[in-house]
Amino acid sequence: MSIISTDISKAVKLLSNEDLVAIPTETVYGLAGNIYSEKAIKAIFETKQRPLFNPLIVHIPSVEYLETIVEDIPKKAQLLADAFWPGPITLVLKKKATIPDLITAGKDTVAMRMPNHPVTLKLLSELDFPLAAPSANPFNRISPTTAQHVENYFKDAIKMVLEGGSCERGIESTIIGFENGEPIIYRLGSTSIEAIEEVVGKIEIKNKKEVAPDAPGMLERHYAPTTKTILTGNLIDSIEAHKNLRIGLLTYNDFLDDDVIDFKIVLSEHNNLEEAASKLYDALHQLDKQELDIIIAEKLPDYGLGKSINDRLLRASKS
Ligand code: AMP
Ligand code: MG
Repeated sequence: MSIISTDISKAVKLLSNEDLVAIPTETVYGLAGNIYSEKAIKAIFETKQRPLFNPLIVHIPSVEYLETIVEDIPKKAQLLADAFWPGPITLVLKKKATIPDLITAGKDTVAMRMPNHPVTLKLLSELDFPLAAPSANPFNRISPTTAQHVENYFKDAIKMVLEGGSCERGIESTIIGFENGEPIIYRLGSTSIEAIEEVVGKIEIKNKKEVAPDAPGMLERHYAPTTKTILTGNLIDSIEAHKNLRIGLLTYNDFLDDDVIDFKIVLSEHNNLEEAASKLYDALHQLDKQELDIIIAEKLPDYGLGKSINDRLLRASKS
């Protein structure tokens, strides 16, 4: 029997009873539990097989709720929350002592955001606690952007996936930390750097080596299909080099009709980076099911959401 359901009151009951429920957001589906329940939080880590050093994002129902979670709100953090919430920006700020260490992997900071999805906002408004929710996929695997993706991973492990349709944005939130009150991008995501800079001015991106202990979403290999994947700026040469294999192709726009390719997905025929982001993970899920020898992914333009998509494809291609 399917565990996918649209019943919000059932989700409220399960979560209030310290069980897990997978929830829809505008980025990807999350595996949610009560932040104050040790049982639920431990179950999140176990279900995902996520290492305990990798902290979770707390999902809150409103901008005002920030005050109950964090000690102090830097001016630029408030500006970002006001400009982008509900939406795909996660802020990492100094936590209050009441926020359990299990959520933050022992750090004195906590990551949080207000998601922009009507079903999950309704759910949050009916709960008297916030939800910790990392992406609802086994550690390092492709993130889920439909309820079905989650059911495929976890039908025996959890009781319910709250149905919310296909995720509109399709890649994870942009994570922003603060040093001396100044914002720093810890993880690229579905809010572009350009949009963020319009609100807070020039912003630094920490390279992954520096930041990996802080934001394990920046681990070198992540978001990965089980099929070997390569990322290339030169499709023609990469296809030629692998022409004896069963090739799956992931392209930005369609210009290539090559009969050595077994399966092809076009992310955006009209060169729209938002559309490409929203289709990315479903494309990887589909490619991974085709029993291919190799997935050849084309690098996207390196601006706007193209930067975030390239970041995910690069991590998917690391072995
Ligand atoms: P996921 O929801 O699975 O995409 O993972 C959440 C991401 O948020 C992970 O990469 C975490 O490392 C990051 N994160 C959560 N809390 C913190 C924190 N206190 N400091 C830095 N990064 C964090
Ligand atoms: Mg994740």
